[in-house]
Amino acid sequence: MKCNFCNNNAVYKDIDGNFYCRDHFIKYFEEKTIDTIEKYKLIKSGERVGVGVSGGKDSNALLFFLNKYKEYFNIEVFGIHIDEGIKGYRDKDTEKLLEISKKYNLNVKIYRFSEYFNIRLDEAVKISKEYKSCTICGVWRRWLMWKAAKDLNLDKFATAHNLNDEVQTILMNIFEGNLKDLLKEGPYVGIVEGDFIPRIKPFYFNTEKENLLYSILNNLEPPFGECPFIVGEFRDIIRSKLYKLEDKYPGFHKNFLRNILEIIYKAKNDYKMRNKIRLRKCKICGYPTTREICRACEIKLRINNI
Ligand SMILES: [Zn+2]
Ligand SMILES: [Zn+2]
Repeated sequence: MKCNFCNNNAVYKDIDGNFYCRDHFIKYFEEKTIDTIEKYKLIKSGERVGVGVSGGKDSNALLFFLNKYKEYFNIEVFGIHIDEGIKGYRDKDTEKLLEISKKYNLNVKIYRFSEYFNIRLDEAVKISKEYKSCTICGVWRRWLMWKAAKDLNLDKFATAHNLNDEVQTILMNIFEGNLKDLLKEGPYVGIVEGDFIPRIKPFYFNTEKENLLYSILNNLEPPFGECPFIVGEFRDIIRSKLYKLEDKYPGFHKNFLRNILEIIYKAKNDYKMRNKIRLRKCKICGYPTTREICRACEIKLRINNI
């Protein structure tokens, strides 16, 4: 197949049946992302934007994209990589990320569990009876992201969630009756209270396949796949059912997301007015929390005392 816009061979077909060659796909992908950023006012001129980079394809692509357009948006871009300490998994991704950042001159800072919590995740999981691996990992990651935002004086935090991720997450929240998290969805997640910074999702309307192709065409893909501790059966089921729907009804994800976003935005304002959450600061570290000591400090204390 030939590209619709030039004479080269096509590498991609979009849901409307248009064919794109390598260069025209990259142009299409980048223009769509710029549209999302501008339409939802995700970034302002002069801001310092952090990107959480796991070393996986989506976040590598996001860091690469924002860095490529940092003059266009007049922003400073920082990659923030969290090394949980999982032998054979994270160290490979970290290596690849460092290789990419050197090649493309990306500014990447590394935050290690071992440095801030005195222990690697794989060791913490072995000695902890109280906490599941994903709990420790999630709580500590969030804490380190907050710490990085403070250290680097960031205005926004960008994550690489794509269209498919978002539709899955929204449906999971609906099925689980999780209204509070459902209302947090959208390309721009504002601040609840305290000194958190807004989270933005520039790839919100790009599909998983488009992110993958963009990473491959730019040589950004990581050597290995998923976290060995991951348990995501429910998400996997939803994901595969949704792909079947997409096959039968092309554009299903996109249409669903556009419709549900309108409902979420309306509900969000209503909910915000009725529920003001009072946050205070953790006695030990200053992290915004509803408790006296935040969960990150609590887990750190328990695990290091065993
Ligand atoms: Zn072309
Ligand atoms: Zn704390």
